Amino acid sequence: MPLTVRQFPCLSDNYGFLARDEASGKTACIDTPDAAAILRELDVLGWSLDLILNTHWHPDHAGGNGEIKAKTGATIVAPPEVERISPIDRKVGHGDVVELGDTRFEVIDTGGHTLGHITYFDAADQIAFVGDTMFALGCGRLFEGTAEQMWASLSRLAALPGETAVYCAHEYTASNARFALSIDDDPVLKARAAEVFAARERGEPTVPTTIAREIATNPFLKAGGAKRFGEVRAAKDAFRG
Ligand code: ZN
Ligand code: FE
Repeated sequence: MPLTVRQFPCLSDNYGFLARDEASGKTACIDTPDAAAILRELDVLGWSLDLILNTHWHPDHAGGNGEIKAKTGATIVAPPEVERISPIDRKVGHGDVVELGDTRFEVIDTGGHTLGHITYFDAADQIAFVGDTMFALGCGRLFEGTAEQMWASLSRLAALPGETAVYCAHEYTASNARFALSIDDDPVLKARAAEVFAARERGEPTVPTTIAREIATNPFLKAGGAKRFGEVRAAKDAFRG
């Protein structure tokens, strides 16, 4: 596979991602939750950094931009909203393409968690970096957008090929599974939840997931429309499990 993804824990429950285009050796980091952890990982791998790709403006996604750019000289590619906390070298939005060597990332509008949230999708390798839009068995909170906007964003992601690897930015899956089980007794969900609890018990990540797996079991995708989605999101916000 021409794009290699290196995933590692950052902060309390974020993931850091480095993506290397094997043909050219060019490397991107997707979001910057923790500059020290990302710089250490680059050092261990002996990789230099070419691009920083931000999904949205939250500090656990763009807070390390300045330090990482200062140390590596990487170009910051981001939606305009990231200007709230970091300078941007190239502003991108829905339909733009970001090249990393031979790899092409299509930018998809996935607003809702924040208004300007975007996803980076590499169609050739079927890899999507979705930030805080879709989580394994979950989705991001509606901090800025409406249920309609988030439902449209999740529907865009659901339309990607089923085998697409979904790299979400947090390890929230066990708590998402507890909520999902509280509103759905589908045996496929139950089996997946059991796998999730066992994986977490062993200290293993549950990210990446796939689009097909989320369509089959994610309670937010299963809502079927914006109105019901909004109800499920509100129920999750109030859930103490
Ligand atoms: Zn966020
Ligand atoms: Fe986040």
